[in-house]
Amino acid sequence: MALLVQKYGGTSVTSPEHIGHVADRVAAARQLGHRIVVVVSAMGEETDRLNALAQATNPAPRPRELDVLLATGEQATIALLAMALERRGCAARSFTGAQAGIRTDATHNRARIESIDPTAIREALANKQVAVVAGFQGVDANGNITTIGRGGSDTTAVALAAAIGADECQICTDVDGVYTADPRIVPAARRLDRISMEEMLELSGMGSKVLHPRAVEYAGRHRVPVRVVSTFMSGDGTLVDHQQSDMEGPQLVGIACNRDEAMITVSGIPDQSGIGAALMGPLADANIDVDMVVQNQGQDGRIDLSFTVQRGDHDRALRRLRQTADELSARSVSANDKIAKISVVGAGVRRSHAGVVSKLCQVLAGEGIDIRMLSTAEIKVSVAVDEKYLELAVRALHDAFQLDRAEDTGSEDRHTDADTKSAV
Ligand code: ASP
Ligand code: MG
Repeated sequence: MALLVQKYGGTSVTSPEHIGHVADRVAAARQLGHRIVVVVSAMGEETDRLNALAQATNPAPRPRELDVLLATGEQATIALLAMALERRGCAARSFTGAQAGIRTDATHNRARIESIDPTAIREALANKQVAVVAGFQGVDANGNITTIGRGGSDTTAVALAAAIGADECQICTDVDGVYTADPRIVPAARRLDRISMEEMLELSGMGSKVLHPRAVEYAGRHRVPVRVVSTFMSGDGTLVDHQQSDMEGPQLVGIACNRDEAMITVSGIPDQSGIGAALMGPLADANIDVDMVVQNQGQDGRIDLSFTVQRGDHDRALRRLRQTADELSARSVSANDKIAKISVVGAGVRRSHAGVVSKLCQVLAGEGIDIRMLSTAEIKVSVAVDEKYLELAVRALHDAFQLDRAEDTGSEDRHTDADTKSAV
């Protein structure tokens, strides 16, 4: 009998029928004797709807008032789920973030959780009630309602699991686990039984939608085991935990990709000190995030600097750079706003960066795909390629690195057509 936190996202609670299904699931776990804290998101696209409502009323709402509004989404779900549980004879009690003791700082709309006092939750559990907690919200030191940023319910769940010392934090969602690649791109993608925290952090940071990166980070720091499971299908899902990857185990766990990238190159900059700072400074000031960066010195002694930014920042970045490039007497500035970034991830990368890089280059060359940029990190190798090659590149790499084959356990967890939703 375990102490569990189960988090249900918006797609799991879109309608009264969905909420009834979640209640069935929670009640079944209670029947087995588990003690359960449920964390829920707002129903379906409710948070978007509330945001639009605010915009229509005042295009620049005060962040405090926006939080009061947005928090109602989750507040509706906790009440409805508690009602659905009671209807099934399962004792339950709803908790807003404040009632659950979730204290945050005062940064409205993207507050950070500072502490959790789980006394009230523990009391409910001791009274054999299911505690149903609103995700995504908390309260600051002055009693103001806060929200912790879009997709924040995962973080609420992990933080609560840490605070009550739960055995596991289960993220119940519309996919049945973490896959070696997005099954919509790679039909042979395989569900992983297990993945390490650091590998999951790389995948979620690269745009895998299964787990919010902040939640993975929190789970890593507080050593909370997390399990990604399907709300709608049975199965053990994927366990994300701290077990060090077996050095003899698989080289790679997955391929992540992100198509929303752009690349900018400033060429022929006369060699002088502080070029990087001169070019990046204005971008940093404008809150534009730069990802991969490559600097080369040409035979004429002049310097080329290339880097990627998010596609949405491309125009702004280009405008700022043209100005700086002029000041530095650079020869030209060129840009490509149809770039995709592909990363191969796995603890095994540590063993041989050169091995992974050479294979990756070989595979892409074999498909006639130019690598625009390449970078390595501890357990990841990333390349930037033209967006039109994204699917081809991901499939070829998945195949070449044999990610469709389970190496250690021999378990055959191939996905079926029923679950071709976005996993990685
Ligand atoms: N309802 C919030 C959102 O849509 C929080 C969450 O779903 O995690 O961003
Ligand atoms: Mg949501």
